[in-house]
Amino acid sequence: MVEKKDERYEDSDLYRIRHSAAHIMAQAVMEMFPGEVKIAIGPPIAEGFYYDFELPRSLTPEDLEVIEKRMLEIIGKDFEYAFEVISAEKAKEIFADQPYKIELIEGLEAGGVDEYGTPTDEAPEISIYTQDTFTDLCRGPHVARTGEINPDGLKLLNVAGAYWRGDENRPMLQRIYGTAWQSADDLEQFLWRREEAAKRDHRRLGRELDLFSTNEDVGPGLILWHPKGGMVRKIAEDYCRAEHEKAGYEFVYSPHIGKSKLWETSGHLQWFKEKMYAPLDIEGQEYYLKPMNCPFHVQIYKSNKRSYRDLPLRYAEWGTVYRYERSGVLHGLLRVRGFTQDDAHHFCRPDQMPEEIDKVLKFTLDILRAFGFEKFQAYLSTRNPEKAAGDLDDWDSSTKALRDSLDRSGIPYQIDEGEAVFYGPKIDIKLLDALGREWQLSTIQFDFNLPESFDLSYIGEDGKEHRPVMIHRALLGSMERFMGVLIEHYAGAFPVWLAPVQAVVIPIADRHLGHAERIAKRLKSSGFRVDVDARGDRMNAKIRHAQLQKIPYMLVVGDREAKTDSVSVRQRSGEDMGAMPFEEFEAILVSDVAPYR
Ligand SMILES: [Zn+2]
Ligand SMILES: [Zn+2]
Repeated sequence: MVEKKDERYEDSDLYRIRHSAAHIMAQAVMEMFPGEVKIAIGPPIAEGFYYDFELPRSLTPEDLEVIEKRMLEIIGKDFEYAFEVISAEKAKEIFADQPYKIELIEGLEAGGVDEYGTPTDEAPEISIYTQDTFTDLCRGPHVARTGEINPDGLKLLNVAGAYWRGDENRPMLQRIYGTAWQSADDLEQFLWRREEAAKRDHRRLGRELDLFSTNEDVGPGLILWHPKGGMVRKIAEDYCRAEHEKAGYEFVYSPHIGKSKLWETSGHLQWFKEKMYAPLDIEGQEYYLKPMNCPFHVQIYKSNKRSYRDLPLRYAEWGTVYRYERSGVLHGLLRVRGFTQDDAHHFCRPDQMPEEIDKVLKFTLDILRAFGFEKFQAYLSTRNPEKAAGDLDDWDSSTKALRDSLDRSGIPYQIDEGEAVFYGPKIDIKLLDALGREWQLSTIQFDFNLPESFDLSYIGEDGKEHRPVMIHRALLGSMERFMGVLIEHYAGAFPVWLAPVQAVVIPIADRHLGHAERIAKRLKSSGFRVDVDARGDRMNAKIRHAQLQKIPYMLVVGDREAKTDSVSVRQRSGEDMGAMPFEEFEAILVSDVAPYR
């Protein structure tokens, strides 16, 4: 199922509405502090818009109300958005007392960036949009008049600090976030989703459920997995490893550092250096921390002569890589500096390509579904004629293989024409979580560059040397990011097979502790993760505690349960399943985890 590119957000009415609302907000803020506001940038974002300001004082929630009220007035006056292309000189005149705009204009003049300072290939053209008294450096698009924005769909949300250009060495600005929708209903739904998302924030749940942390002494963007988070991760990895083995992958391990020569040959020092950390000196030789595992797997391939009969080879590794991210963009588990990829590289003959892609795509979707994700959206990136390694036939056949596989898989996909990186076409798979949010996890990527640079070969049926096809594949992507998505998707209430503690036994009084411990021991010996809550608290407090810890089952035991070898079962949702014989409860646990054993 192919979706048309013209359904993209950037081309939608909502995008224009939000962009226009950002301009109105900037006008209202400038009127609030006449002559004292320095405006930076104000783009639409996924579900709203923002604008960054340098202001004489910090904004309060009450300020937002005043600004919002003024915005509604501007909307009511139905001003026109007037567009004009101007020269750089004229622009500098208009924005003479706006240093951030001047910097952006200079960027536009020099070329290579757009009016937000984002790199672009498009030729620079300097243009402005004006509504009422407010003029912004902008290329649009906008709605025609301010009155096209529905006042009932508009809301300012919060203020946050944001460094100019995301650079922690530049000034800290105040960013006002707002949102705009076509109807009051849409706004209400968005606000509900937002509140729900805040409850599911993996950083908050990571603390509350004691799953992971970061620590200033360790360094930002470096994750410490606590026993409970570590358990969830281990179960996820164990499950995936077993599935990989069944699917014909072989496990390899590679070091965390490699000599500069390796990264020169692989092209990383040329193409990826800004993401790599400074080299280490070992006996006068430069070594780099690995930003990717690929060159090591290539070396394993190269360590032996390969015949056409050996292929395909599939090397898998849970490989921890390190990439530089500015501290300003680090975010919980989602954006980190060190992460573990569930990485794999396939080496196959060109004739094996279609089957190999079919298998890897099906495998990817099967695994994602096993973790409880049901909705996917794929993106196929095709060749950019201006930057493409390898020959055209290879691109054509590999792109066709990807496309045919997507067609057979039945998941919706969109073709991003010319968006492929230089070394080969790829599929990105985004999944939709419980709140309908898209998360990019899996990538299946052809590579025509590495086999060439490392001169990989196999001996064909004809006795001659041939070049193998190489496929990079990360399925969950990074374990850190995947865990972040998983925590938010389940709001921390992991399904039984993943839950770090699957059941807690709660004795009603001290005299029931013996029975509680025997129950726990029997379940543990069957391979389940069970705690006994032996604290002196009242039963209801213990149940409440277990619910907050999102433990799937609470087994309450008192006199009656001890006498009949039974347990009274409650679920974290609050549902009371009543008393049942021990064996009956154990059978429930067994069936919960059966698909994953
Ligand atoms: Zn604009
Ligand atoms: Zn790779």
